[in-house]
Amino acid sequence: MPDLDPEEFRRLGHRFVDWVADYRAGLGELSVRAAVEPGWVRGQLAADLPEHPRPLEELLAEVDRVVVPASTHWQHPGFFGYFPANASLTSLLGDLLSGGLGTQGMLWSTSPACTEVEQVLLDGLAGALGLGKEYTFDGGGGGSIQDSASSAALVALLAALHRTSGGTWRETGTDGRERVYVTAETHSCMAKAVRVTGLGAQALQVVDPAPGSLAMSPDALAAAMAADTAAGLRPVLVCPTIGTTGTGAVDPVREIAQVSRAHGAWVHVDAAWAGVAALCPEFRDLLDGVELADSFCTDAHKWLLTAFDASMLWVRDGAALPAALSITPEYLRNAASESGEVVDYRDWQVPLGRRFRALKLWTVIHGLGLEGLRAHIRGHVALASELAARVRADPRFTLATPPSLALVCLRVLGRDDALDDRADDQATRAVLERVNASGSALLTHTVVDGRYVIRVAIGSVGTQPRHVEALWTALREAADAVRRGP
Ligand SMILES: *Cc1c(COP(=O)(O)O)cnc(C)c1O
Repeated sequence: MPDLDPEEFRRLGHRFVDWVADYRAGLGELSVRAAVEPGWVRGQLAADLPEHPRPLEELLAEVDRVVVPASTHWQHPGFFGYFPANASLTSLLGDLLSGGLGTQGMLWSTSPACTEVEQVLLDGLAGALGLGKEYTFDGGGGGSIQDSASSAALVALLAALHRTSGGTWRETGTDGRERVYVTAETHSCMAKAVRVTGLGAQALQVVDPAPGSLAMSPDALAAAMAADTAAGLRPVLVCPTIGTTGTGAVDPVREIAQVSRAHGAWVHVDAAWAGVAALCPEFRDLLDGVELADSFCTDAHKWLLTAFDASMLWVRDGAALPAALSITPEYLRNAASESGEVVDYRDWQVPLGRRFRALKLWTVIHGLGLEGLRAHIRGHVALASELAARVRADPRFTLATPPSLALVCLRVLGRDDALDDRADDQATRAVLERVNASGSALLTHTVVDGRYVIRVAIGSVGTQPRHVEALWTALREAADAVRRGP
């Protein structure tokens, strides 16, 4: 047979697991960022693919030689860039089971377990997050695991197009009158969803923030929707964000949902990064008003210890996604689907096939308990507030926005004695470049009100107090060097 026999798999599997364990154990010693030039990896690899079988141990040597030095180490404890992409070792064990089963979970009948484990987990997590019964299968809604928050945004938009068109969109397509409401801070995945659905850029309405904030103004939304409706346009969807990618800003979901309801628009809440914090009762306020929305998305693959890909999407109407997406060719017909008693997750997503993603999430919840998940989140939020306090107290730095959970946005002051935004921009950028060049930490940036801002997103699985301590030292040293000048 062309594959490993199970005994050989067992032997090699240990080698591969050892490799991962060694890599993770030594991660803190590596430079977070890859220090290679474009094309280096391609230059290292033989262009001719092997014609004959080669020992798989050799592949591990290639990974050490080429892949490790050319990787940005997202699981490094000094990774503070973008948002975290927690790939806990616990979740890898579940992923191994998923690959081992090799299930295609497109229909209930193609793997009842793949469907129902996911249903149970998402119902349970809806309760643990305080989403309310309406988002559970028991309550008429339900959750699914998508590959990414981007896919979640796309399918939410498809359901919204279906509902707001009274079902005609499926037959006739779009008519150029659809409108989708976001803010300048909304993740670009919604703009992409608008493009993918063929609504055209004209469909995207960027609603102003409330004065002095980065959050969507419900008054501005109400005015935009009223004007659009009066002009014969159709509000289809509003996308409030809980924890924007740039600065962690939170849109007022309750007021937004109240405005949207009056116009029949779908409300999709994007809480990709921040939503999981609602597992902790003290952060539950974040989700205020979500019970009035139509769909809610948060990623288990950012800050909830579950290896990519696992984005959780809940809808309050369990029939909404199948109504928009279901197409049944003869070869997929089966008695279970026709009984109406089962969920066929293919109707909740764009692709037909689907992996048994619930296994890695289940492994995480089983292995850590909800209590372990809460401790993970609380630990990072506490580290972020300590860092923010130090930034506040240090004359070389300033907070660019109020800290949001475990995200701290800061600026470097180029000089103490002068207010000079451009000099501060340059100093902030130079400090970020210095810290990143050191290899001990990785930071990314954003722009707020035209000003360059360093984002510190705390949340890697291995990030401990000493790593944030080391980052603070690196930031102060870089600021001193930059302020001293060349
Ligand atoms: C990261 C992020 C996304 C995109 O998430 P993916 O799951 O990687 O597609 C969408 N929205 C927000 C607010 C995000 O922070």
